[in-house]
Amino acid sequence: MKAALLRAQNELQICEVSKPQCPDGGILVKVDACAICPTDVKMLRKGQRDLVYPRILGHEVAGTVAEDKSGKYPIGSRVQIWPGVVCGKCIACTKGMDNMCKNQGIIGFNLDGGFAEYLAVPSGNVIRNGVNIIPDNVSSEEASLTEPLACCIHAQERCSLETGETVLIFGAGTMGQLCSESSIGKGCQSIVVEPSSERKNINATAVLDPDDDLYSNIMEITSGRGADVIMLTTPKAAIDSNLLSLAAQGGRICIFSGLNSKDPERTLDMNMIHYHELSMIGAYGCTSSSDTHALEMISSGLIDVKKFIQKRVSLDNLYDGINAVENSRVLKCVINEF
Ligand SMILES: [Zn+2]
Ligand SMILES: [Zn+2]
Repeated sequence: MKAALLRAQNELQICEVSKPQCPDGGILVKVDACAICPTDVKMLRKGQRDLVYPRILGHEVAGTVAEDKSGKYPIGSRVQIWPGVVCGKCIACTKGMDNMCKNQGIIGFNLDGGFAEYLAVPSGNVIRNGVNIIPDNVSSEEASLTEPLACCIHAQERCSLETGETVLIFGAGTMGQLCSESSIGKGCQSIVVEPSSERKNINATAVLDPDDDLYSNIMEITSGRGADVIMLTTPKAAIDSNLLSLAAQGGRICIFSGLNSKDPERTLDMNMIHYHELSMIGAYGCTSSSDTHALEMISSGLIDVKKFIQKRVSLDNLYDGINAVENSRVLKCVINEF
C-alpha cells in the first residue's frame, strides 16, 4: 500500500510498504481522512518524545472498517479512531486516565498512523472503545478533527471548567480556537490573546493583542475577578508572575502546549499560588472518553469543525499540506485521497 514513511528527522518519503495485517482483537481500517497536526510537523522537523522511527505519522484519523477481529464493528462502518493503544489494567487506565497508560502506544507516534491507505488498530485501542462509529451527519473529514477537539475537552476536564466561568486562552491557532469554541459551547466566556491580525475574527467573547494592557482589559471584562482558567495553547506565552496575576481566586493555569525543552526554567511567585489558591495543571493528548465526547459534540452541531478545514491534499501531495500547516497558512489541512 501507499504510505508516507518518516525514516529519520526530515526524511519523509511517499513509498510502497506492506499492507498491515488486521491485529487479533483489533480492526483494519481503510483511511478516508487524516488531518495534519502541527505535532506531525514537529515530529518531521525536530522529533518528539514519543516518536519511534521508522514511522507512518498521522493520529487524526477517520476511515472505514475493512476487517474486524474484535467482533464489534461491521465491515463498511465509518469510524473515527482515538490514537491511544493501552493496557486497560494499570492504575492510570483504571482511573480513566488512559492517555497516561504506562504501557501506552500512540498511533502515529510509536505505532503506525493514518498517512497511509490502511491503518491497523490494535485491541488495546478497541478495549477502551477507542473506535467510534461516525454518525451519518458527520463527514469523515469532519470526524478527523475529533482528536484535536478531544484534546481541548480533555484539558477543560483537567481544569474542572464549569459553565459560567471565564477562560483566557493564549494563542488563536487551531487548538486555541477549538478551546474557545468548546468553552463557549459549555456556556463560558472566552478571552483569546493573539498577535496575528488575521486571527482576530474568531468565535470568542473578546480577542486581545498581547501588546494590550492585558491586566486592565481582563479585569474589566471579568468585573475585577480575573480568569478562572488560563490555557496556554502556544509555547510563546510567558509563564510568569504577570500571567498568574490574570487568574481569579481558585484559578487554574493549564500548560496545554508542549514547551521548548531548551527554554530556561521559570520562576513564579509562589505566594500568589498560595494566597489565591491557584493550580498549575498539565494536559497532554486526550483520553478515550474525551475523544468519544468530542465526536458527539461535532455531531450535535455544538462545534462546527468544517470551517477549520481550509485545505485538502492527496497523500502524494502531503508536502504541500505540511508546508501550509508549518507556515500557518491554514488552520487545518486534511489528506482526503490515498
Ligand atoms: Zn494532533
Ligand atoms: Zn494502562
